[in-house]
Amino acid sequence: MKYRFLNIAAALLTLLTGIVTCAARTGDFPIRAFHLDFRTEVMTLDAMKRLVDRISEQGINTLVMEWEAAFPFDKHATLSNASAFTREEVISFVDYCSGRGVEVIPLQNCFGHCEYILQHERYRALREDPKDPSQVCPLKIAEATACFSELFAEVASLHPSKYFHIGADETYLLGLCGNCRAVADREGKSRLFVDYVKAMCDIVHRLGKTPVIWADIILKYPEALDELPDDLIFVDWNYGWEPDRFGKLANLFSRGVKLWGAPALRSGPDNIYLTQWKKHFDNLAVFVEYAREHDYGGMIETSWSTSGTYGYWFDNGYEILSMQPVRLVYPMSAFRILEAACCEAFVTDAPFEPEAFVRRYARTELGLDDAGAGVLWRYFSMPQETVTVSDSGAKDASGRDLHEVIDECVRMRDELARLKPRKGAEEAAHYLLMLDIRINYLRFKAVEARYQSASFDRSGIPELMSGLKTLLAETRTLDRRFARLNGGYLKAREIEYMNTMRSVKMKLLYERLTNNTR
Ligand SMILES: [Zn+2]
Repeated sequence: MKYRFLNIAAALLTLLTGIVTCAARTGDFPIRAFHLDFRTEVMTLDAMKRLVDRISEQGINTLVMEWEAAFPFDKHATLSNASAFTREEVISFVDYCSGRGVEVIPLQNCFGHCEYILQHERYRALREDPKDPSQVCPLKIAEATACFSELFAEVASLHPSKYFHIGADETYLLGLCGNCRAVADREGKSRLFVDYVKAMCDIVHRLGKTPVIWADIILKYPEALDELPDDLIFVDWNYGWEPDRFGKLANLFSRGVKLWGAPALRSGPDNIYLTQWKKHFDNLAVFVEYAREHDYGGMIETSWSTSGTYGYWFDNGYEILSMQPVRLVYPMSAFRILEAACCEAFVTDAPFEPEAFVRRYARTELGLDDAGAGVLWRYFSMPQETVTVSDSGAKDASGRDLHEVIDECVRMRDELARLKPRKGAEEAAHYLLMLDIRINYLRFKAVEARYQSASFDRSGIPELMSGLKTLLAETRTLDRRFARLNGGYLKAREIEYMNTMRSVKMKLLYERLTNNTR
């Protein structure tokens, strides 16, 4: 709590300083938003309200809600999944947010990332590619307008916000179908993108709202940019890369379009086995500063529960039996420190300094001394990279040998385990669990490296099975810790799913080896 008072004091000081000096910095962003993505890891209503309590006290005034299939669709009830909320729950949540000064902007995809819609037979005629339910064909404007007019109206009816986010990012299939290819060859992919987005913006306008889109595709294909509506807001998402990754931002700056920015609290390659903490802290430090310099009107801290891409179980004719998200990440329950970091970076008109922030947070929120704060900073600074196994062994993305990576994690784990936080014990327990999950996973990679090596033969099976037995016993303990720490935070079925998926590969290998010892 003391930390929050400090923040408020800092914000007041900033405000006063700004008034007195009329500095060039623009101060607070009018829109200071947090994002919840419910493709997977659907939270309980109670956990959502606690999150809103925390972030609203720290200066956040907007929440971007990507309900996806957790929204209680009515006419389109085909879309609502087994974790969906009721209408009453959504209404009560939006009211709750409003009571705390937080406006809820819905994010309803209508172009790319439409898997949860296009997987169903009811909507498959809209697919750009019959084999891939990720994207709508932008030439099917009439059919898409009929469908999304109803979907947008359903979603808008429960969200009084004047803004309506329609997604439109990562439309990687642009120009794929024969009809689209002909248009793309003749007039360019920008034409396909802009004509379709204009039609979707028309629906938003008919609902009396202001449309918002992600900026990546128009940056990549800017030729028809001027035809997009004047009130459209573009969100420049940057999770830690050079500003012009998707295309020249100058194309947007020079036209004076309305821009918001979006860093990320969880993004690729984060998964349940690794979290690139340092990258996310640095992302806030660098990109928020960039956004201030370029007068962005708002900031959204995104938090992705998955990559938004899927693996499918198909039947005949690409009928989809089931889809599995690529990459599950650790739930938001463990990310309070990045929540607070984002609030500080968005609200406080001074450059965000990750190490100073973490050390301060360690003292005020976890009750650690200076030495403990140092351990916490080392934990967040420790590289966490993906690991690949090949027939010549296992290495992480920076080329380090797997055993070196495991040793480093174990040393860090022991240091973390010795910390004695005077408060925030649950938060510290999440950090420890995340590292234990990583170590269990890395040791499994060592087993896999042996299994995938050119010298592996049947004689090696007993040794691998013995190693796997120990690791599988560990996963059962990890499952229980995960369920205990996330109980009440995630919906129960989500916890079960995550525990299952986390060790599915290990269990399958164990079964395979068991069969082949006969
Ligand atoms: Zn098409």
